[in-house]
Amino acid sequence: MKEMISKIPFNKPSFTGKELDYIRESVLSGGISGDGIYTKKCHELMERKFNAKKVLLTTSCTHALELAALLLDLKEGDEVIVPSYTFVSTVNAFVLRGAKPIFIDIRQDTKNIDENLIESKITKNTKAIFVVHYAGVACEMDRIMDIAKRHNILVVEDAAQGVNAKYKEKYLGTIGTFGCYSFHETKNFMCGEGGAIVINDERFIERAEIIREKGTDRSKFARGEVDKYTWQDLGSSYLPSDVLAAFLYAQLENMDRINKTRQTIYERYLMNLQELEKAEVVKLPVIPADCISNYHMFYMLTKNKQARNNLISALEKNGIKSVFHYIPLHTSPMGKKLGCKMGDLPVTEDISERLLRLPFYNDMTELEQNFILEMVKNGVMACR
Ligand SMILES: *Cc1c(COP(=O)(O)O)cnc(C)c1O
Repeated sequence: MKEMISKIPFNKPSFTGKELDYIRESVLSGGISGDGIYTKKCHELMERKFNAKKVLLTTSCTHALELAALLLDLKEGDEVIVPSYTFVSTVNAFVLRGAKPIFIDIRQDTKNIDENLIESKITKNTKAIFVVHYAGVACEMDRIMDIAKRHNILVVEDAAQGVNAKYKEKYLGTIGTFGCYSFHETKNFMCGEGGAIVINDERFIERAEIIREKGTDRSKFARGEVDKYTWQDLGSSYLPSDVLAAFLYAQLENMDRINKTRQTIYERYLMNLQELEKAEVVKLPVIPADCISNYHMFYMLTKNKQARNNLISALEKNGIKSVFHYIPLHTSPMGKKLGCKMGDLPVTEDISERLLRLPFYNDMTELEQNFILEMVKNGVMACR
């Protein structure tokens, strides 16, 4: 089998075939700045499909999170509850505003924030909880929303990995006050670099439009509601070119089909690796009954750090790229500057040393996947 497969990347962007047609149409429409015809199409598609009050495309999920932090008026002295096991952008968004992260440990099963640990960390300074739906599997949102409501704090969902996934009857991103999506090349649906903010409380819609448009009421002007646009508030430029929205629309139209493909790949990994879990050499991911995943990634846990690193090298030798993440934010150089230290969050620290992500992309062939599976089994058994 090996002769036929030269190299297997960790991720490979895939296209639906309509991207260039739509870009062409956007270009020919005579305007490719933000909020053009395809941006509107993307907004409408997501609002309808996810049953969301308002969706606004942004230049990235990082920027959607920053927009959320601005809308919440987070400032110096405020505290935000957040997992440490996440991408830096979740936390940078409000640290940029001077707010302080209060890192919380994660659950063993989903690697999501441990909802049982949240309440004891709430103080009079707590303004928000930023949750992350890891791998497209939802946090325990009923509990989290209930805690937030009782303490009068707001919830932001970092649903960068959770687009088109569900918790009970709701799409991720539509449950908290704001949801943030990523359309980065490595995500399920993408346009290279891109994102969106979902606004679930209509009181924030007008201000979100203003902040996203450099602090002006240009969105109202574009709709003919005012005859001149002016400076209204703080702001920045968070809207992407319509060329990117055109690309993205070709992907969003195919969300369910893409998820089905990814489900097949995920389930094939899961089924074929059962024997390793039975032999107690790896642990496989779980999706709680209340969650519908979008199958953003396939990860597994080895027994220890050594076994994980050995497996990465063994796969690398066979041309297969596997990766690990995250270095916990509380143990990073920046985390240390904020006063955190190793030992604060035992589950996060343990998972971070043992987690390994296998190659995952829509166009993965069965042949490629069988080869990966064979090499994983060989690799795990060789270094057990
Ligand atoms: C990818 C990702 C982001 C950042 O998304 P960008 O669109 O690249 O800014 C933020 N949070 C999480 C959890 C992510 O996985």
